[in-house]
Amino acid sequence: MIRVLVAGAAGRVGSEVVKAVSAAEGMEVVSAVDPGVSGCFVQDVHGSHIECATDLATAIEFEKPDVMVDFTRPDVVEGNLRIALAAGVDCVVGTTGLSEALLGELALLGPEGTCLFFAPNFAIGAVLMMQFAQKAARFMPHVEVIELHHDQKLDAPSGTAIRTAKMIAEARGASPASPGRETELPGMEGARGALVDGVSVHSIRLPGLVAHQEVLFGGQGQTLSIRHDTIDRTSFMPGVVLACREVGNNEGLVIGLEKLMGE
Ligand code: NAP
Repeated sequence: MIRVLVAGAAGRVGSEVVKAVSAAEGMEVVSAVDPGVSGCFVQDVHGSHIECATDLATAIEFEKPDVMVDFTRPDVVEGNLRIALAAGVDCVVGTTGLSEALLGELALLGPEGTCLFFAPNFAIGAVLMMQFAQKAARFMPHVEVIELHHDQKLDAPSGTAIRTAKMIAEARGASPASPGRETELPGMEGARGALVDGVSVHSIRLPGLVAHQEVLFGGQGQTLSIRHDTIDRTSFMPGVVLACREVGNNEGLVIGLEKLMGE
């Protein structure tokens, strides 16, 4: 059995992780950590209640998990990773907001054989959206990314949008000239979005949304839109379960679900 600790277990995604891991073959939730609701219980798929622990280091010491899954907050995940990796626990991270450089540094904290796996998006459809966008960028280099999320999201742009922009930039080489900052009216800076590796990224935040992204390409007399919509947070769960299964067979920093999908 793969022993899994879930950090952020009472959160929107973490609570789904508790159910998905407990329902999956060959793995079990051995600890749920969420200091804001310490003493409260989260429910697994079998209807059992797991008490939320406050302190990650203590939970690791007592439960000896093989894997920590982290869906917490951008300002919390670094500290959690420092504790888990130093203890030799493989990490599956969905929390966005950390740079690749910092993830690389953190991955070095683990003893040999430890893996830090990060996916900016665990939904398989979103991974395909990024791959299709990367392919299209070779032929249609004029492209902008519009990402749309619920209004409680703590970071902008989203990790998925940053990753998509980087993949597009790699594929298309030099950025084509398109109207940029110089066209923004005084006092309305930001109208053209944020530049991520030369790709304009626009972030929408509204109640009612979950997680959505459109990659919009323009060419002579034509446009191409590639869109992915997360309708429900269960969309992330097959990817999370796959990562829990595979992280032990990997080492160091691994980024992107596609690396575990046989791509
Ligand atoms: P959320 O509902 O706010 O859940 C985060 C949970 O973590 C909250 O219950 C929070 O408690 C708890 N928490 C705070 N400090 C903690 C600590 N030190 N240890 C353990 N738990 C702690 O957020 P969410 O919507 O589930 O999203 C979580 C993260 O995942 C965000 O960064 C989001 O962008 C990312 N995300 C990634 C993917 C992906 O596919 N990669 C998909 C969806 C979301 P309090 O409320 O008391 O602070």
